[in-house]
Amino acid sequence: MADSMADETIVGIDLGTTNSEVAVYRNGAIEVIDLEGEQIMPSVVSLSPDGSLIVGTAAKNQAILYPERTAISIKRRMGSDESVSLGDKFFKPQEISAMILRELKVRAEKFLGYPVKKAVITVPAFFSDAQRQATRDAGVIAGFEVMRILNEPTAASLAYESDKTKNRIVLVYDLGGGTFDVSIVEAHGDATEVLASHGDTRLGGDDFDRLLLNDVIEEFIRQGNPDPRNTRLALGRLTQAIVRAKHELSFKPYTRIREENLLERDGVPLHMDMEISRQRYEDLIKPLVEKSFESVHKALNDSGKKADELDAVLLVGGMTRTPLVIRRLAEVLEKLPRTDVHPDLAVAMGAGILASRLGGHDDGRVLVDITPYSFGPEAATMGDFGIPIADRYAPIIKKGTPLPANETEEFATLCNNQEKWEVNVFQGENPIASRNIRIGQFIADGFSKVPAGNKVLCTFELDLNGILNVTVVEKLTGLSKRVRIENALGAMAKDDMKKARENLDSFFAAAPELSENLPENLSDDLPDGSTELATQSTKPLEIEAGAVSPAGTTVLAGLRHPARTLLEKAEARLEGMKEKDRSDVLALITRIRADITDGDNKDLPAAMAELDDLLYFLD
Ligand code: AMP
Repeated sequence: MADSMADETIVGIDLGTTNSEVAVYRNGAIEVIDLEGEQIMPSVVSLSPDGSLIVGTAAKNQAILYPERTAISIKRRMGSDESVSLGDKFFKPQEISAMILRELKVRAEKFLGYPVKKAVITVPAFFSDAQRQATRDAGVIAGFEVMRILNEPTAASLAYESDKTKNRIVLVYDLGGGTFDVSIVEAHGDATEVLASHGDTRLGGDDFDRLLLNDVIEEFIRQGNPDPRNTRLALGRLTQAIVRAKHELSFKPYTRIREENLLERDGVPLHMDMEISRQRYEDLIKPLVEKSFESVHKALNDSGKKADELDAVLLVGGMTRTPLVIRRLAEVLEKLPRTDVHPDLAVAMGAGILASRLGGHDDGRVLVDITPYSFGPEAATMGDFGIPIADRYAPIIKKGTPLPANETEEFATLCNNQEKWEVNVFQGENPIASRNIRIGQFIADGFSKVPAGNKVLCTFELDLNGILNVTVVEKLTGLSKRVRIENALGAMAKDDMKKARENLDSFFAAAPELSENLPENLSDDLPDGSTELATQSTKPLEIEAGAVSPAGTTVLAGLRHPARTLLEKAEARLEGMKEKDRSDVLALITRIRADITDGDNKDLPAAMAELDDLLYFLD
């Protein structure tokens, strides 16, 4: 019995910046499960001086004593290559997130009484491919089979609307501890579709805390006291007091911060006793709240909807309890936001609903998600006099396309006997390719030695987890090359993932019931961490590049302008240059970029020669 439950049970996890929750389908309903006495577990990890790993509330409490051994708000670093230290040990952000996920897994298993192997994990709609991939990696390191990476606003709208059948357009305003997201979601018939999403991965409760903390500290200093920021313990205590005060100001016009013996001077204890009014707090945070409305307007604009077409405004994330947020939303959208689903649990509930559906408990509704970014290769357009303009972006899957998406564009070689296309894959909206995020690169080679105009089909497939497959096919021969971009920048290599999991296992060795639940053959369930180029052709491929778009515009696929190589060389050398040299180099880089963008082929050679000379001279 336990085994069959384990096989089919899929949990829904809201992996939040500040807190995390797990929901599961049980006894005919979705339930946010009790994680050892609380539904909400702080997303905090700490390594004790004795080397033992602590996760959750205990870790949060440790943060005051051992800030250098504690990781908070790790979600903000997901997708980056930063190294996070816990004491003298270093981890990647996905490893820290895996610790949180593993703890959730252990606690969920204790609660349910059987192993849990599968999970749906939520991410902000605005998360890039790299951030999604890092989250997926974290799930795998933790020992889950990650069934789906789900956008948080989609999850929230499911939690609010899962039992409704009529057409509705809702705005989901999600302000959590570290990220902000706003989405316009349409529920029609039996489908839920995210029409548009906008957000800021660096705006959240932590920023509000910081503003209040600095204000309180400045006031304390003005009263003649020393700066608590110079004393670790005092700063830790004050940080926690600030968060408590912020929460109280959500339902009280005034609150007090009382911290006895916060500091001492010449052996005399110094106390803090300060009243804070909601008005003062609101004056401080107003710019942050207004900043969030820029995304609200953008999302509405992108969705093609007007505020008065919204049927409901849904609140998600602990910070949406802030009265100023609710007030401004009501003023701007002329609609009182709904608060009937617990804003801290809505995302987990929605993840649980999708998890239950994937587990076979179908409630008759279908999810349609959208991509928050465009994806496409770098290309070159033909300028005047047949001179190609490089560094152009040719988005194939457009922002806002429902997922899963599968789109193909036709390109054509420009050079005779062009056998190769260096395909640089970008994510973003800027018409200049290099101003977007490059998420992958591969060489399609082996094209036939034929005159320019050889048709090349490029297909982009984006799955429901936001993971991309790119295929290039030479139309003439059907030869294809395919790359799976599971490892957009920041993803971990398979070997590193394996090491990370072994490392995690050793930390959790004290929980033997857990190791039993890990899939035995790690290599089977770990996605390949490195960009994998699967050649599906039967003959060896060799080539160069060039193409004509369906609209007839000549596109030179993947032309690598020598200027790009020079720019990269210059940029790599910027660090460590003297200020004067640096500004000269920067000026030339800017000039060359402008020349490339404007297709100014007169100035470009001169600017390149100048930069080349300067770099040579600096050598
Ligand atoms: P989440 O990431 O959704 O868990 O949101 C956590 C954020 O919400 C943290 O910054 C909390 O301090 C904040 N928060 C929780 N409760 C309240 C409250 N009552 N008033 C204001 N902010 C809150």
